[in-house]
Amino acid sequence: MPTTDRNTSLNRRGFLALTGISAAAFTMGTGVPAHSAPSRGPVPADPYRLGVASGDPTHDGVVLWTRLAPDPLAEDGHGGMPRRDLTVEYEVATDARFRRVAARGRAVAVPELAHAVHPHVKGLDPGREYFYRFRAGGEISPVGRTRTAPAPGAEPDRLSFAMTSCQAWYHGHYTAYRDIAEQDIDLVLFLGDYIYEYGITAANLRRRGAGDLSGAHAAAVVTLEQYRLRYALTKSDPHLQAAHARAPWLVTTDDHEVENNYAADASQYGATPEDFQRRRAVAYRAWYENQPLGEGSLPSGPDMLLYRRAPFGRLAEFNVLDTRQYRHDVPSDGGVPGGEHTDPARSILGARQEEWLYSGLRDSSATWNVLAQQVVMAEIDRDTGDGVTYSMDQWDGFTANRRRLFDTITGHGVANPLVVTGDIHRHAAAELKADFADPDSPTIGTELITTSVASDGDGSDTDNLEPIWLGNPHVRLYNARRGYVRVSLTPTEATSEFKVLDHIEADDAGTVSTATRFVTEAGRPGLNPVSGGDQ
Ligand code: FE
Ligand code: CA
Repeated sequence: MPTTDRNTSLNRRGFLALTGISAAAFTMGTGVPAHSAPSRGPVPADPYRLGVASGDPTHDGVVLWTRLAPDPLAEDGHGGMPRRDLTVEYEVATDARFRRVAARGRAVAVPELAHAVHPHVKGLDPGREYFYRFRAGGEISPVGRTRTAPAPGAEPDRLSFAMTSCQAWYHGHYTAYRDIAEQDIDLVLFLGDYIYEYGITAANLRRRGAGDLSGAHAAAVVTLEQYRLRYALTKSDPHLQAAHARAPWLVTTDDHEVENNYAADASQYGATPEDFQRRRAVAYRAWYENQPLGEGSLPSGPDMLLYRRAPFGRLAEFNVLDTRQYRHDVPSDGGVPGGEHTDPARSILGARQEEWLYSGLRDSSATWNVLAQQVVMAEIDRDTGDGVTYSMDQWDGFTANRRRLFDTITGHGVANPLVVTGDIHRHAAAELKADFADPDSPTIGTELITTSVASDGDGSDTDNLEPIWLGNPHVRLYNARRGYVRVSLTPTEATSEFKVLDHIEADDAGTVSTATRFVTEAGRPGLNPVSGGDQ
């Protein structure tokens, strides 16, 4: 077990000064006392063009989100808002017409946070549907639907969620979210790559009908204003807004919210750690501004606490992980057998998050212990011949960390580990083996990997990487189309449906079908294919 986390070396106060956020500005965005003086003034018309959202549900509360932006694509990143504070009121009701109001309050939208608010509503009933809306001046927002988690100790008969990742806006339409917004689900898990930091030019713009994009989108995203603009472009998609308004989300980042394949403060493109930490600070800040995240995830300079736990009664416990911020850098040996990537000191989670995860798993009494995380955990040998080759960006680059996790699972009898993953832009599913080198060794957990929402465009059922993935005997599915995974948990089984789209580049009218359906029985980790795709 490594003994120290990778530390951020720069002076924290210097970062706060650099990124210009005061503690007061953060606090006002999460809610202000009812008796405080409101900040009034003219509110520009139509300020909810980035939608509304909710997230991090607990049994008695939820975080609400909106960001005032009447001109979302204004190139200064301020969404067409005046540079002053504005009070935003919110209302939560048990009916969509707001006749039975359960909570109301105010938060202040401040320019330092791009006029985003994150009120944390408390005192709600467990396991219940709610509706919410905002008001600023005379402008009332669209209505969002959300749902609190079941009470601690409750035994709900079902929990359904959708999982998504990798939504390069410029590669295609968010048709997956059109379908998710029509689903009866309790939750959406977002597993990383909400934005991509690449410049958008004619060479990579595959989303047809997008109209002319200004030159402001053509450069790689580096500054706070550019990250804000990229979130605004991404969130301008109506289907993404509808999915956010449909259910609470549990979100985490992967690499592209900052820069491709970064590891802690190590850029893979030659930036110094100091320069990269500055970039991480503005990237994390823009991420927070644009997500329904609680006060625990407020960034502090280049640091942001994103790993957290969300229990759903006794049925499920979600451990949302952060495998980027604390990981050791890419090993110099590139992954040769027995090389540096197997060093026991290496961690993809960092010592503190490992300890937090293992103690949570040991203490959990949930039927399903879900690890919501970014990169593939199963061992994947990419050499179809006699040699072995592993990706050093995934858990294969951190084999000792994976061993410690697996030992915790087997040593403490952790019930039904269900790892849910994004990153690879393919649907895949794997049985997690006690010893990957021995196909007969016990299966100790199940990994479901969702394809991208948009990244890599239309895709196809198969491609030239399929033999590599299916050459690993514990991998049970490979599909290279776009889509999402819908999971239903009951006390006795988990059903996973791998949804695919026939196209996403030409328009948002693509047809959804279920490519594969698996059942995992409680007490018997692994993947049982179920016949009968729906279309
Ligand atoms: Fe991606
Ligand atoms: Ca990624």
